[in-house]
Amino acid sequence: MAKYRDAVCKLCRREGEKLFLKGERCMTPKCAFDRRGYAPGQHGKSSQFKRKRESDYNRQLRAKQKARRIYGIYERQFRRYYEEALQRRGLTGFNLLQILETRLDNIIYRLGFADSRAQARLLVTHGHFTVNGRRVDVPSMILGVGDKVAVREGSRSRTYFKDLPALAESRTVLPWLERDLNNLSGTVVRLPERSEIDGNLHEQLIVEYYSR
Ligand code: SF4
Repeated sequence: MAKYRDAVCKLCRREGEKLFLKGERCMTPKCAFDRRGYAPGQHGKSSQFKRKRESDYNRQLRAKQKARRIYGIYERQFRRYYEEALQRRGLTGFNLLQILETRLDNIIYRLGFADSRAQARLLVTHGHFTVNGRRVDVPSMILGVGDKVAVREGSRSRTYFKDLPALAESRTVLPWLERDLNNLSGTVVRLPERSEIDGNLHEQLIVEYYSR
């Protein structure tokens, strides 16, 4: 699978807004978007002064790219999620967001066990988590209501996980998840509602993009 190897901060600069891809760093003066809030590349700075009339296609494309970048998903898989969302009952755009939210890496991030989705993904691929008692290493795994995520017994003695309860305490957990910091675990108690998902995502534009 293709890998994105360039500086991730360029993704924020390309989208023209902070996507918070680097956890705590995004809140510090080191944030590249705060320092250089224009598009990357040779003409990035000058292009911000040119008023372009945005086409419908461009708005749809940007909405799709933004969602993909926030959740750290490659195009092929994102399209597969869209197709799965189409098969489900209800609004396709909302279904798509629910699928993205219930990915294992996102849930670990939402539980406050990682600083960013990228870090959550790394922790999963290194085998530090279990789902319903079974060790997993697939960050794209989709969880359902009642599924329980926990830090693997063998990983708890690591410094990162020893310090985690204190770190995670300051991170808010959304009401569709239940967190147990003593046991370093969390459960999906229900699926997220639209108001509990990033309000800055424009799912309708994503649906329009794929249904062209
Ligand atoms: Fe985006 Fe965070 Fe980088 Fe700032 S520090 S540009 S918010 S990824």
